[in-house]
Amino acid sequence: MSYTHKPTVIESIAEKLHLIPDLHKENGRDGARRAAEEGSEISCPPPSQWDNWVEYDSKSWPERKASEYMLVPTACFNCEAGCGLLAYVDKESMKIRKLVGNPYHPASRGRNCAKGPATLNQIEDSDRVLYPMKRTGKRGEGKWARVTWDSVLDDIAGRMRKAIMEGRNNEISYHVGRPGHDGFMEWILRAWNVDGHNSHTNVCSSGARFGYAIWEGFDRPSPDHANAKFILLVSAHLESGHYFNPHSQRIIEARMKGAKLAVLDPRLSNTASMSDYWMPSYPGSEPAILLAMAKVIIDEGIYNRAYMENWVNWQAYLQTEYPGTPVTFENFIDALKKEYSEYTPEYASRESGVDAAAIVEVARKIGEAGTQFSTHVWRSASSGNLGGWAVSRTLHFLNVLTGSVGTPGGTSPSAWNKFKPTVHAEPKPQTYWNTLQLPDEYPLAHFEMSFLLPHFLKEGRGKLDVYFTRGYSSGNCRVFQ
Ligand code: SF4
Repeated sequence: MSYTHKPTVIESIAEKLHLIPDLHKENGRDGARRAAEEGSEISCPPPSQWDNWVEYDSKSWPERKASEYMLVPTACFNCEAGCGLLAYVDKESMKIRKLVGNPYHPASRGRNCAKGPATLNQIEDSDRVLYPMKRTGKRGEGKWARVTWDSVLDDIAGRMRKAIMEGRNNEISYHVGRPGHDGFMEWILRAWNVDGHNSHTNVCSSGARFGYAIWEGFDRPSPDHANAKFILLVSAHLESGHYFNPHSQRIIEARMKGAKLAVLDPRLSNTASMSDYWMPSYPGSEPAILLAMAKVIIDEGIYNRAYMENWVNWQAYLQTEYPGTPVTFENFIDALKKEYSEYTPEYASRESGVDAAAIVEVARKIGEAGTQFSTHVWRSASSGNLGGWAVSRTLHFLNVLTGSVGTPGGTSPSAWNKFKPTVHAEPKPQTYWNTLQLPDEYPLAHFEMSFLLPHFLKEGRGKLDVYFTRGYSSGNCRVFQ
């Protein structure tokens, strides 16, 4: 959207006197486009002036003390949303004076939570780790000595090399909180012939990921909340935690256009408190509600027949489950009705504590929204519950029934339009299988069983020589040996 701000008389006079920047020249001169919608403009110098921007020091008032800055686009790493920031770098001291939202960032659009600008605290944090330290005493004794980066790299790389040369590849392990680098680290590990990727995913998102993966291969969804007519969120964590800023601002946009929001969450979260329908379901009962909604949509015929006929493998289903039955779409729907007959709203209500009438009402709203139905579940509802994967499995079923997959206002697979750099060469898969990460007892584990690793080591199932992780922020970067 182009920038169409028309300055008021007072602004025009202020511009002419150079009291404020020239507000109305921005679009034509830069050719750059703000990602923020019109009417929600965020004060920001135009990119053509980012190399040389002058601001007056507020503390020196009434003296007009000018400082020259360069504005450097960067990203916040205080949560996975990765919002855009602009760093004001003082040209004289080369220090960052402040960080503000970058309106040209396509996801955050200049809007940040308080943690974004507070990133300055990390840069200036007096307790941050400034150089590598090596333990000199016993583990836990708190004795450390400062060492050089060269000695650290030689030490750790030397241990890794020795382990690999001696065929102890499984004694090298890399642990990451969020494997969000699009396979880059797996690529490195394959090149080393080390099956050593480990993450906390199995106690976090892998339940939900598995439910999505068996629908469509992609294990995370990307809902188009901004264009949805109805939004269904299962547990609020996503919208109040990871990714919350880019998602929540789009949910609000949709609601300003009339979209309705339903939240299944036992907790009256911030998100639930903003919703039109709060359904405080007992933990672990979400699939019962979602199946009951599916039943209402099927029984009342408010599914998307064109989508289902084209994209659902209903012929194979009928042939397998009802051999001899004529393969018609009508027979498929009859079979579905039979399949889901037990999941009545009353059954779901008994399971979840949510009013049956509310379940029916929300199901009808979902049917009305059709292809403009966005959904999301993350973390709490699907992790830590036996069968938690069924939450995303049943939630996405509602998208399939309404044909709201890959549509404006619907829910797409996460990586459909995501930039992913290609690598110049593909190393061969590892010739090792590390049962410390993926033990034989759990052949269907969707991610590494990282929470078992300490127990396995204690049991003597294996050894670790080098265990390393990554981190960008203070106090978060450690190498364990
Ligand atoms: S939502 Fe807040 S903490 Fe997360 S990346 Fe954006 S500004 Fe940083």
